[in-house]
Amino acid sequence: MSATAGQVIKCRAAVAWEAGKPLVIEEVEVAPPQAHEVRLKILFTALCHTDVYFWEAKGQTPLFPRIFGHEAGGIVESVGEGVTELQPGDHVLPVFTGECGECRHCKSEESNMCDLLRINTDRGAMISDGNTRFSKNGQPIYHFVGTSTFSEYTVVHAGCVAKINPAAPLDKVCILSCGICTGLGATLNVAKPKKGSSVAVFGLGAVGLAAAEGARIAGAARIIGVDLNTSRFEQAKKFGVNEFVNPKDHDKPVQEVIAEMTGGGVDRSVECTGSIQAMISAFECVHDGWGVAVLVGVPNKDDAFKTHPMNFLNERTLKGTFYGNYKPRTDLPSVVEKYMNKELELEKFITHSVPFSEINKAFDYMLNGQSIRCIIRMED
Ligand code: NAD
Ligand code: ZN
Ligand code: ZN
Repeated sequence: MSATAGQVIKCRAAVAWEAGKPLVIEEVEVAPPQAHEVRLKILFTALCHTDVYFWEAKGQTPLFPRIFGHEAGGIVESVGEGVTELQPGDHVLPVFTGECGECRHCKSEESNMCDLLRINTDRGAMISDGNTRFSKNGQPIYHFVGTSTFSEYTVVHAGCVAKINPAAPLDKVCILSCGICTGLGATLNVAKPKKGSSVAVFGLGAVGLAAAEGARIAGAARIIGVDLNTSRFEQAKKFGVNEFVNPKDHDKPVQEVIAEMTGGGVDRSVECTGSIQAMISAFECVHDGWGVAVLVGVPNKDDAFKTHPMNFLNERTLKGTFYGNYKPRTDLPSVVEKYMNKELELEKFITHSVPFSEINKAFDYMLNGQSIRCIIRMED
């Protein structure tokens, strides 16, 4: 038992009071975990685009004041009633999508779409009682995707916590909580390229670079990066991308350009842009007979996917995935081991690092397109 178990903890958190306004470091109160919840001491967190989208709250339901953050590493401080698989001191990664272990999805080998704990961006409170565990002077502060890691302490459902090797450096493996696993798993678990094959990656942001890293690990021979922003290409070379296409440089559709480059199409493609046009191109650029395309980007609300059905009859496959099909509790420990065995490189994703007091700089770096991942150090 830790000395603080069962008590309210006062600590620093970066609170978003209003959409698009800089976060404010405040002293907040963090209530003890209730049944099936755990309270975590966060040591490192990182900024992902999804935090920025919901902080800007353009097109999303605004919910403020709120504590954002969902890529992080920390240590269990205390556990609520009924929590048997975690104990104080465990090293963990909180994840925005959980694994209850009981539902049909959790019991299926094929799915990570847990009925109880799958991502919900509109919810701002805990599932069990609909209350927040954060407050300031009695005013509730909302949670974000069940994680809210921009706080020295946070309360999370135990099903959203992966227990990992305590020897793993949390300042590196914390980025496995979201974007990196999403891209990596989209390639390794869903596209499954064969050694020596060709893979096109649409969109070379953090997710697409992680998809390319997956292709590199799988031994793909040709990794073709597709992006509208040429400045992404230089960085992408470090992730195994060895050919580039900017759709803007061609007056025909990019799928035709790729078909010409590859003698009929790539073996696999992974779309990591969120652009509906890129999704259609990613599907149509795979080879007939065996090609598989995987969609990862989150489309706009009114988008519709249009392609000729002949493209399917000609034996192309279209798939999609959340969080790279990883089941967070079951699979994340083994992804951490891939890093520990030096099979997976994480350092190259980490372009910046700031102390917690300068968290707003992480937003600036992302908004200026300078960073892949900026690590926020809580204790410094
Ligand atoms: P990012 O904005 O850093 O990168 C996207 C890249 O795509 C940019 O470099 C941009 O120039 C490029 N791009 C945009 N439109 C394009 C087009 N038509 N053709 C080629 N390139 C184009 O984003 P990110 O953080 O890497 O995330 C990528 C996508 O993945 C987003 O849509 C995000 O919402 C989504 N995402 C999905 C999951 C999931 O589980 N499915 C998880 C995390 C993120
Ligand atoms: Zn479940
Ligand atoms: Zn994320």
